Amino acid sequence: MNTFWLSLAPILWLTIIAALTGMIFDTAIVLGLYSIILLGIVIYHLHTLYCLDQWLRHSDYSYSTVPDRSGLWGVVFARLARFVRRSDKERLGLNISLERLQRATSALPEGIVILGDKDQIEWCNSSAELHLGLNLGMDAGQHISRMVRQVRFVAYLDAGDFSKPFLLNQTRFRDTLLSIQIVPYGDREKLLISRDVTRFEKLEIMRRDFVANVSHELRTPLTVIGGFLETLLEENKVSGDMEKNALRLMFDQATRMRRLVEDLLTLSRLENAGNNLAEEKVDIVKLLQELYQEAQSLSAGRHTISLDLVSHAMLLGSEDELRSAFENLISNAVRYTPENGVISLNWTVENGKGLFYVQDSGIGIEPNHIPRLTERFYRVDRSRSRETGGTGLGLAIVKHVLNRHQASMEITSQPGAGSIFRMWFPESRVLPAENVTE
Ligand code: ADP
Repeated sequence: MNTFWLSLAPILWLTIIAALTGMIFDTAIVLGLYSIILLGIVIYHLHTLYCLDQWLRHSDYSYSTVPDRSGLWGVVFARLARFVRRSDKERLGLNISLERLQRATSALPEGIVILGDKDQIEWCNSSAELHLGLNLGMDAGQHISRMVRQVRFVAYLDAGDFSKPFLLNQTRFRDTLLSIQIVPYGDREKLLISRDVTRFEKLEIMRRDFVANVSHELRTPLTVIGGFLETLLEENKVSGDMEKNALRLMFDQATRMRRLVEDLLTLSRLENAGNNLAEEKVDIVKLLQELYQEAQSLSAGRHTISLDLVSHAMLLGSEDELRSAFENLISNAVRYTPENGVISLNWTVENGKGLFYVQDSGIGIEPNHIPRLTERFYRVDRSRSRETGGTGLGLAIVKHVLNRHQASMEITSQPGAGSIFRMWFPESRVLPAENVTE
């Protein structure tokens, strides 16, 4: 018999007994007694309901405090106690897992901050407290930009492009350099991961300084050696073909080393973060006309070179750096294009972006080499690069110059058919032409 019939049975029995006794005794007395007993039953149920309500409102939801009753209520409360006991167990399990997770994230050397949909701090681990000077107890709910008060960081957060980490110089608490990575997840929430990269940065600075110092120290002796060798060669101070050949070889190698040193120094200058970009109005047309003349003399009539100036727009940037980048592309086109080849230099504006490109009908490049060309000393054909006076640093310099101008490079090439090296400059750097005389 189910609980419903079990609880209804006493009322049914009472009704039957009342009906039978009503036939024998005074009906009014029987009905009165019947009503009083029914009222008692209703009061009992209402009181039990009240107890349940009180328990739901004020209890700690422990199964030991569930009201104790018999009959139908007893069955209901036993089920409730079982349910509460099961949830207690699950809650305990979840708490243990959560604590373990929190202990694990606290032990991480990376700082972790959970940001809500309005970039407010929801949780952070102890490494994040140390890195960013946070105090979870006091700062929870605060907007992250109130805690990390750096204009560049706020702009990075607002821009919403988190493909590259942000380097944060944290001088407020300790002199540290942090790499901040933001990972959006869920419903407009974010995970902020901070890493202390001070040591790596120091090593990188030491490496850069070392290369720059060695290059600098080598510059003077190489200039002296080159100068003497040149004088000896020019003034015909040595007799004998073997001696002359040896002298010529020494002079060529000294020149190559000087070029290498100059390129290394250029790279160090470009890499130096303290070296701010000169924001000048660069007359690209004038610059390219000069470079066109240089290309002609470098080619010495071996190629057909053309200059196509579709636009007279100027560029905002460093003239020296742009000259060096353009020069590298042009000299590569001359050096990697066999005799009678065709080379064109082009300047145009497409969809607001500045575009300089060099097209050649040269030896071309296999597709697998293209992604690595801007690495230092990466050369497809080492001996050809050397023979033509290459250092293997030209495209690395180009990449740095482009990065500093927020520009990008696109290389399309076909082995045996030639290459196109395109440089795209952002709209913000393209300026209208001044005093154009056409
Ligand atoms: P390098 O001084 O050796 O020319 P770069 O950094 O300027 O060094 O170029 C890297 C390599 O890219 C070159 O060694 C060459 O193999 C390849 N390369 C660059 N420009 C061209 C080009 N226009 N045509 C074919 N190969 C090229």
